[in-house]
Amino acid sequence: MRIGFIGLGNMGGGMAANLVKAGHEVHAFDLSQAALDHAHQSGCIVAASTREAVAQADAVVTMLTNGATVSAVYGADIIGHAPTSALLIDCSTIDVAAAREVARQARETGYAMIDAPVSGGIAGAQAGTLTFMVGGDEEAFAVASPLLNAMGKTVIHAGDSGTGQAAKICNNLLLGASMAATCETLALAAKLGLDLQTFFDIASKASGQCWSLTTYCPVPGVGPVTPADRDYQGGFASALMLKDLRLALAAAQDAGSSVPMGQKAEALYAAFAEGGHGGEDFSALIKTF
Ligand code: NAD
Repeated sequence: MRIGFIGLGNMGGGMAANLVKAGHEVHAFDLSQAALDHAHQSGCIVAASTREAVAQADAVVTMLTNGATVSAVYGADIIGHAPTSALLIDCSTIDVAAAREVARQARETGYAMIDAPVSGGIAGAQAGTLTFMVGGDEEAFAVASPLLNAMGKTVIHAGDSGTGQAAKICNNLLLGASMAATCETLALAAKLGLDLQTFFDIASKASGQCWSLTTYCPVPGVGPVTPADRDYQGGFASALMLKDLRLALAAAQDAGSSVPMGQKAEALYAAFAEGGHGGEDFSALIKTF
């Protein structure tokens, strides 16, 4: 397939490389020259603009920063510039409302479009082990599946347009709140005189067990190797967790849903990320306690 790939940053760079490995012809564009140089080394064909990258595409994949960028790039350079036969796939994490609006505009112009945000981080993007959560109709999902499977290990159809984004932000709402609870619990356990590896062994087999503790323990030297063992470098940045929590709070407000745990997690991550720790892994929140 000929694919136009826009946004070759931390995530998109690895994803485009995996499409090349799967035998696709990837025409890539990014505003950053460094990202384009890296894409070229991975076997992508570098385009001079988004319009050039998507001009004769069978599918377009975008991996951009936020909803405003996604709306602007689709509005100005993809819708009306890619062939209407091209399937449009947005993998960025953006707000549900923007995802639904862009998909509506695309459909009105004759395109099929899906939202397909991911979980799995930069390591998953490079290894091709991402989880895709997909919103869109059955037909578009069927066409997209082989492409998504070339970049990921798990591909799940969540429902209509926007439900991929809804699944992503609900997952990260749960993750942000569970990490905050895990951090405060471990800090309390230490102050109560518990050896943290012993507490880890107990809670991992008891009803407090959760992914933030067992798989991603925020304490160095306890449990499996995690970003905590690398001084909280790499992994999933606190600033991105804050972004996703804010998307979840905005969606909750639109839906009239009460999310007090999410509000508390957002306040904790805001103080931490905006206090100079935004680049550290989100498990570094334990420093707060
Ligand atoms: P990034 O900033 O590394 O990459 C975004 C890329 O988009 C950059 O290279 C930037 O130059 C490019 N870009 C911005 N505006 C553009 C435009 N108008 N035209 C062309 N290119 C443009 O970000 P990332 O970490 O790769 O994240 C991308 C998306 O994936 C975000 O929505 C993020 O929330 C989501 N995500 C990230 C992770 C993670 O661990 N990094 C995990 C899951 C999901």
